[in-house]
Amino acid sequence: MKDYYEILGVSKDSTQEDIKKAYRKLAIKYHPDKNINNKKVAEEKFKEAAEAYSVLGDKNKREEYDKFGSSNNYYNSSYSASSAEYENINMNIDDIFTNFGDLFNDNFTDFGFRKKKNYKFKKGSNLKINIKVTLEDIKFGNCKTLKIKRMKLAPGIIIKSCVNCNGTGVITNITKTFLGRMQTTIQCNYCKGLGKIMINIPSNATSTGLIKIIEYIKINVPIGINNGDVLKIHKKGNEAPFGGNSGDLIIIFKIIKHKYFKRIGNNLYTNIYISIPEAILGCNKNIKTLNGVIKKIKIPKGIQSGEELYLKGEGLPAYENKNINGNLIIKINLWTPKNINKNQKFFFEKIKGDKNFLPIIK
Ligand SMILES: [Zn+2]
Repeated sequence: MKDYYEILGVSKDSTQEDIKKAYRKLAIKYHPDKNINNKKVAEEKFKEAAEAYSVLGDKNKREEYDKFGSSNNYYNSSYSASSAEYENINMNIDDIFTNFGDLFNDNFTDFGFRKKKNYKFKKGSNLKINIKVTLEDIKFGNCKTLKIKRMKLAPGIIIKSCVNCNGTGVITNITKTFLGRMQTTIQCNYCKGLGKIMINIPSNATSTGLIKIIEYIKINVPIGINNGDVLKIHKKGNEAPFGGNSGDLIIIFKIIKHKYFKRIGNNLYTNIYISIPEAILGCNKNIKTLNGVIKKIKIPKGIQSGEELYLKGEGLPAYENKNINGNLIIKINLWTPKNINKNQKFFFEKIKGDKNFLPIIK
């Protein structure tokens, strides 16, 4: 069985003050908020120390404990019933704070001693929606109106403090054990530990008083965003019961395929087709950019199929810096006619053997 002196790391003849100091030290060391990466073990140690202190920290209980000793025979013998009773005290973390919190004051507030009043009020759940956007939306940061179905506290509901627990959410019991008076707290059954109750819940609302409403929210598409990027709008998710914090609205952007442009990074790609004479002689072509503006590009004579030309700055703005724009890259494709007439055939047959028309692979 547990040796409380050993747990607190003190000797049997320590003073009450020593015991208190030892416990403070352990409680601070194993405080659950301070041991995020090792929470479970820390919490066990924290509870164990509190249990030991609940006995040794009390002069009368300590005397009782000393009388029976901490050896196995005490717990395993005829006192097992009492022992079970004692074991059942099974303090939880919040009981520990309630019972011994005043021991710590400053030290505990230093690293975020949990505020008992509100910790049970959960945040409302997050809402996730997908929205489809075009490359134009991304380029110009167009405004979009979103239709959102979110849970909201039903109108007419009255929130009152729970009379059963006086709004604390817990019921405190004093139990008499062979070790003396023990204080335990349990969750209030009436308000389920919330300390508040709701009345006038309309029949169309959930048991937590929420109803589904439709809301319209306007957003500007973030310039330069990528497919799958997420925008979080605080507190536009579902409301929480009892006026707790609302969840967030999480918007996921899906980019619609464009008819003419393919996006790679901040660059846009498009294809144009030119005829064989145009490739040989060179030409000018009109290109419609994403802005909807017609730009002229000069295709030099002798261009190869698959070569790329570009219009600088006609791509998409960078997400991180809207002043940096990608390019519009134009891939040149040669158009070969499927059918030709007699004269054309004669012409091409004639030049087929011409050395100047043979590919030169470098
Ligand atoms: Zn209550």
